[in-house]
Amino acid sequence: MNLNFTAEDNAFRQQVRDFVARALPADIQYKVVNGLILERDDYVRWQAALHAQGWGGSSWAAEFGGTGWSAVKKYIFEEECAAAGAPRIIPFGVKMVAPVIMAFGSPAQQQRFLPNILSGQEWWCQGYSEPGSGSDLASVKTSAVRDGGSYVVNGQKTWTTQAQYADWIFCLVRTDTEVKPQRGISFLLIDMKSPGVTVRPIITMDGAHEVNEVWLENVRVPAENLVGQENQGWTYAKFLLGHERTNIAGIGIAKRELARLKRIASLEIKNGKPLIKDPLFSARIAQVEIDLVALEITNLRVLSAEEQRRTPGPEASILKIKGTEIQQAITELLTQAVGSYALPLRRDAMAAGYQGDAAGPFYATPLAANYLNMRKLSIYGGSNEIQKNIIAQMILGL
Ligand SMILES: Cc1cc2nc3c(=O)[nH]c(=O)nc-3n(C[C@H](O)[C@H](O)[C@H](O)COP(=O)(O)OP(=O)(O)OC[C@H]3O[C@@H](n4cnc5c(N)ncnc54)[C@H](O)[C@@H]3O)c2cc1C
Repeated sequence: MNLNFTAEDNAFRQQVRDFVARALPADIQYKVVNGLILERDDYVRWQAALHAQGWGGSSWAAEFGGTGWSAVKKYIFEEECAAAGAPRIIPFGVKMVAPVIMAFGSPAQQQRFLPNILSGQEWWCQGYSEPGSGSDLASVKTSAVRDGGSYVVNGQKTWTTQAQYADWIFCLVRTDTEVKPQRGISFLLIDMKSPGVTVRPIITMDGAHEVNEVWLENVRVPAENLVGQENQGWTYAKFLLGHERTNIAGIGIAKRELARLKRIASLEIKNGKPLIKDPLFSARIAQVEIDLVALEITNLRVLSAEEQRRTPGPEASILKIKGTEIQQAITELLTQAVGSYALPLRRDAMAAGYQGDAAGPFYATPLAANYLNMRKLSIYGGSNEIQKNIIAQMILGL
């Protein structure tokens, strides 16, 4: 197993670096690097810039307008973008529903949906979770009953990220209640403008409106919006989750946040010296950095296996757990670095260009919200407890 990047990989890295330096709007980069609030338009502008470069579908096959990059190139691309302060690519369209439509959708669905996902013109959200169906996803209850040329959908989705921006939602719905739960699920594409769709905000403990409830009341969905075959949705859902877990380690994001931690620890003064010179604090930063380097090597091993056409298996769970622990540890150190100034939760002061009062230095303002927000990492995309179950069963054979 060779974990070194080739000369071609390194040249590609430089190409990505040059592109991001040229194409990433400075106002968006400023928000990302300083942990400020990003708007819908920020994500859309970045996706449009990627699309203009031909890189809108970094994980897509060339036949659908994607880059056709190898797993290593995808990794380098994501790492460089994140480290330079690009916003994350909102995954629900490009990385989740698009691969499902490519693999299982009809040619008409591919033509209708894929181009607007690539350009960022249409925003998607993910309607999997329901109250009572999160880790136990196969128990979803939202029903879809066939009525002529439509399905009539009733139920409630929850934790739906950025549904307030979405044009479309892909949903797991129950189309058969008489069989084993996994066998009675279908995968439906629903227009958010359909009569009967209501989005209700959930405000999280950091004061953000990021997630929502989506209520579906007698929503008529054309039968042509069914992906693949009726009652085969569980297969497609699992396929999608496999895509959700690629690049799950968040190495680039962790590197960027580690750089932010070092920057802040250099500005904070303790006992007349920069905090970063304090032996105890710098040892804690070093520990996180060591963990991050170890995770990076593990990630490269997984990528190396992928290059040899072995699909990523349960090792993705290790990447998820360690990646989330590292990112959460960095937010803890960030708050500790500025002490009491990191305590006030000031969402208003997190807008770029805020000119009002602030307790402490400007970099302290978003830290409370950033810390609270990052708790989500170990819950979504399969909670860390569920990932540990996977490791126990599939790697350790327990
Ligand atoms: C910020 C955020 C954004 C999200 N965005 C979306 C989205 O866009 N679309 C979407 O569909 N969903 C989304 N989710 C939902 C997410 O996928 C679920 O929250 C997650 O799968 C956990 O499900 P749950 O909340 O129902 O908790 P539960 O499944 O009820 O779990 C509660 C606790 O019990 C533990 N637990 C459960 N089962 C086991 C077990 N077998 N062994 C050990 N421990 C167990 C869990 O780890 C957790 O700690 C989002 C969640 C969050 C927090």
